[in-house]
Amino acid sequence: MGQHKNKIDFEQLLQSHQLKRTNPRLRVLSMMSSRSSATSQPDLEAAMSDIDRVTLYRILAAFEEKGIIHKVFDLNGTANYAMCTADCNEGHHHDEHLHFSCTNCKNVYCLEELHLPAITVPEGFKTEGVTVYATGLCPKCSKRSAAK
Ligand SMILES: [Zn+2]
Ligand SMILES: [Zn+2]
Repeated sequence: MGQHKNKIDFEQLLQSHQLKRTNPRLRVLSMMSSRSSATSQPDLEAAMSDIDRVTLYRILAAFEEKGIIHKVFDLNGTANYAMCTADCNEGHHHDEHLHFSCTNCKNVYCLEELHLPAITVPEGFKTEGVTVYATGLCPKCSKRSAAK
């Protein structure tokens, strides 16, 4: 995530994934892409409190399926959602990057430049996703704790 995401034309993004342009969808996209960290489900629900919850979950599920966003659980098991990189598409995510979970502000950050190595699991296991976390303090929180 970063500045480049702000330039995305959300209407075009929806169109390119055969999703109808609706206000709730556009709002979810603009909220997620405006943040430097992933957006937690409670934050999304609070910001979209006028949208029916079922509708919100459907939007998130559709975006996830289309490769527009990916879900990351933080250390407490709370779902967080982050925009995918441009090379994700339907049924194929390229989100094998390191996630950083801040123990202070609880924000989850995508460290897209840190790719995970290909993981080979023993026979009989079927990998559906790999999540690797670094934990500690994010830049904001570590600055704050240094100032004390
Ligand atoms: Zn933090
Ligand atoms: Zn991520």
